[in-house]
Amino acid sequence: AKQNTRDRYSFYDEEMTKKAYERIFLETEMRKAFEKDEFVVYFQPQVHAKTKILTGMEALVRWQHPDMGFIYPDRFIPLAESTGMIIKLDRIVMKKAISQFSRWKKSGLEPKKVSINLTMTQLAEGDFYKFIKELLEYENVSASEVEFEITEREIMGNPDASIKALEKLNELGISVAIDDFGTGYSSLTYLKRLPINKLKIDKSFIDNIPKDLSDSAIVKTIINLCENLELQVIAEGVEEENQNDFLFENNCEDIQGFLFSHPINVKDMEEFIKKHT
Ligand code: C2E
Ligand code: CA
Ligand code: CA
Ligand code: CA
Repeated sequence: AKQNTRDRYSFYDEEMTKKAYERIFLETEMRKAFEKDEFVVYFQPQVHAKTKILTGMEALVRWQHPDMGFIYPDRFIPLAESTGMIIKLDRIVMKKAISQFSRWKKSGLEPKKVSINLTMTQLAEGDFYKFIKELLEYENVSASEVEFEITEREIMGNPDASIKALEKLNELGISVAIDDFGTGYSSLTYLKRLPINKLKIDKSFIDNIPKDLSDSAIVKTIINLCENLELQVIAEGVEEENQNDFLFENNCEDIQGFLFSHPINVKDMEEFIKKHT
């Protein structure tokens, strides 16, 4: 029995070492990835539920690693956040997404609006507002064509600080959507005071509508809340026709999800814009 216990401990140690090693490996690779320009921006269309006309698009980062291949954000965003690399990464995504948006406009297309994911720590960087203002000027993109998505969890983590930071974005004319709405315990008092423009209903509530009655009730409640607070509303993670119908019938007309398109590369997005405007 003693032997067994020892084995178990050493196995545990080995696992820990392996995890720590993987983390250090990924972190080292990520630092190199900035220099080697391995981050790529994909776009997922947002469309009107019935007409399927393009209303905007979300920029989603991917990491194209030379040996490991295509790496999805869930594997490296948490690491980027814990190491502070997220500041740099999100600025690269902004540069790439906004400059691509600008190219589409210049070529006569109507990409409408681009939504970019942002962490609250970015807004605490003193030079961020200057950064984004100069980027928009340089690319000839107006503030009203850009939207930032910040998760409810992060905003409600420190609502007073969020109000201040979001007011500064508001002054620049950039709108804000609360991402993953419904998962982060919003206080209604704060929701009214926050200078935000849109709620994005989290995919977990969309998954089982219309069959699940309590999820359906929650979704309707969020849509009503938006009507009452004069906020726009969008649903994410829409995969099925009957989810889309339910949302449309309940006055949520802005839809994002695999039903219409996965996140796609620049070339495919260009075709999508042409087809859906
Ligand atoms: P998110 O902001 O909630 O983005 C939506 C995620 O759901 C995306 O995953 C998208 O591909 C996926 N999705 C969209 N429609 C559907 C659907 O109908 N069904 C299913 N099953 N999934 C759908 P992705 O691209 O892997 O991104 C994961 C998360 O990583 C994002 O969640 C976001 O939190 C984060 N992220 C992605 N890009 C960036 C970025 O540039 N900066 C930051 N800070 N975070 C990012
Ligand atoms: Ca998002
Ligand atoms: Ca989301
Ligand atoms: Ca999410």
